[in-house]
Amino acid sequence: MKPHAPTRTRPGSLRLTAALVLLATPLVVAAWGLGGYAAQRERNSADARLTRSLDSAGGAYRSLVSPADAAASRLAGQKRVQLDFLHGGPPVLAWSLDPRTGRLSRSPQTAPPSAVAVRRVDVLSKGHRIGQVVVFAPLSSGLVRALSRRALLGPRHELAVAEGRKLVTSQGTVRIDAGTPSESGSDIRAGGSRYRAVGTGLGRAASRVELVVLERGSVIDSAASTARWRVVGLGLGLVLALLALAYAVSPSIARSRVSRQEREQAERVLAHVGDGVFLVDRDGVIRLWNQAAEAITGLRSDAICDRRAAETIPGWEEIAARIPVARRPGDADDASSAETVPLEVDGREVWLSITGVTLGEGIVYAFRDVTRERRLEELRAQFVATISHELRTPLASLHGAALTLLERGHDLSSRTRHELLDMISVQSKRLADLVEEILLTGQLDSGSLRVVTEPFDAEELVWAAASAARLRVGDDTTIDVSVPAVMPKVAGDAARTRQVLTNLLDNAIKYSPHGGRIELGVEADGGWVRFTVRDEGLGIPLGEQKRIFEKFYRLDPDHRRGIGGSGLGLYICRELVRSMNGRIWVESDPGRGATFTFELPIADRVAVSA
Ligand code: ADP
Repeated sequence: MKPHAPTRTRPGSLRLTAALVLLATPLVVAAWGLGGYAAQRERNSADARLTRSLDSAGGAYRSLVSPADAAASRLAGQKRVQLDFLHGGPPVLAWSLDPRTGRLSRSPQTAPPSAVAVRRVDVLSKGHRIGQVVVFAPLSSGLVRALSRRALLGPRHELAVAEGRKLVTSQGTVRIDAGTPSESGSDIRAGGSRYRAVGTGLGRAASRVELVVLERGSVIDSAASTARWRVVGLGLGLVLALLALAYAVSPSIARSRVSRQEREQAERVLAHVGDGVFLVDRDGVIRLWNQAAEAITGLRSDAICDRRAAETIPGWEEIAARIPVARRPGDADDASSAETVPLEVDGREVWLSITGVTLGEGIVYAFRDVTRERRLEELRAQFVATISHELRTPLASLHGAALTLLERGHDLSSRTRHELLDMISVQSKRLADLVEEILLTGQLDSGSLRVVTEPFDAEELVWAAASAARLRVGDDTTIDVSVPAVMPKVAGDAARTRQVLTNLLDNAIKYSPHGGRIELGVEADGGWVRFTVRDEGLGIPLGEQKRIFEKFYRLDPDHRRGIGGSGLGLYICRELVRSMNGRIWVESDPGRGATFTFELPIADRVAVSA
């Protein structure tokens, strides 16, 4: 039977879409966030590049300043210059430095308002200041070009010098319309264009002149935007790929989930099957051994699974050769195609009715425990043999006696005739008893036997049974009765109880071949009246004490001891006692006798509970 697939509460595709949307949303948000981060990184690295260019421009500027310093000191020390001052020349003499050639030329002006690298050196004479020498580089596009040449500027970087809102570039001078260059980078607008600018002050802190490196804002924006979209695009691509993958694999995931559930269900079902089920693969290794198989055989699954059947199941090779194997379940034509095989585990014999069905990877075997049926069958066969024997003996006696009387009746003495007639009476009684036993067994089995429950006198019954038994024993046997002074009445069927007692007494006599003492007792204990029949006969081995109450069971089925019997007597006793709500058991010391006891409820107790 194929297990049912688990029912689905919602359409699978709807659930899948919802799951994919749930999965994709945070991924898209994350990709967008990463894109923003990449754009910011690009801007930061643009600033870092501008700063590197600015550092290099700073170096160029310092290399420009150093000759100005040296030139100012040198000029201040010249005799000619000192004499100029001493002879009433202007108090300040200025030289302008050509940044392109590094040459100095006398400037008609003392330092112009727009200049860089301004160096002033006082000229002293006898400790008094007589004048001042000034060296400067005029602030111009030429100066910016010269610095740009010396500096190592990044691609698309421009060098400029800012003085207040004025921005001197290599192309000319423009006005800064918005923003101020800063060391950490800032956005400015100059000459109608947007720039990213980093700047550093030149000379003293008070100076408003700054060296600035610029990069067009549009260039940085486009690089940042490219970086953003590269990351976002990559992220979205990944998300899409992931979704496509999820979409592609989800049916197989769903299928494997369903098949896992089916497998688990099948395992659960297998664990609850009453028949033993096991799988032997093509290499003869046991791959599955269900709980019923464990319970029936006593072989544990962990000791048997993944091992070769031939090593773990006793006698497997012979058993396997006998088991019919069908190609499909139900292919076997009828129940007889199951083979009944014995299995011996730990000294215990179990009979199994077993069949096999081939499966791709091996053979699945299913078996039932038929030990009980098998035993009953054996006992039935034994019974037929026993009964044949039991019938033959009295029938032969009857036939012989009747024939003798018929043919030679006139010639026989009256004593012999009487003996023959007595034999006929005894043997026909024996036959009648046997038939009675068989009929009674049939009634007990079909549940058609009527048993009344009414109070009766146990003491009277015991005495009557003992007196009747005494007539059947020889001199070597004594039958004693022990009865207490006061006995409560028993609730049950007096005639059936007498039958049980008679049966037990007959057995005590029968199985005490050397006679001895037979004790018949009765006593009350709690709510029960207990009857006991004790003998000093053959006794019963411990292992057989339960089985002797089974139908047809005899310790000596082949009558080797010469003691006849049908194997029905104790079964009838047990069933009669049970039908009167009592119980029966035996205790025995083999070779020294047996004690059969049965209990029936006392009448008062029954009346009270009723
Ligand atoms: P049977 O007709 O063979 O006596 P029962 O059912 O009465 O059948 O007894 C079953 C078996 O129990 C007997 O075959 C016998 O071996 C054993 N048995 C019964 N009673 C006694 C006893 N008192 N002592 C020894 N064995 C007994």
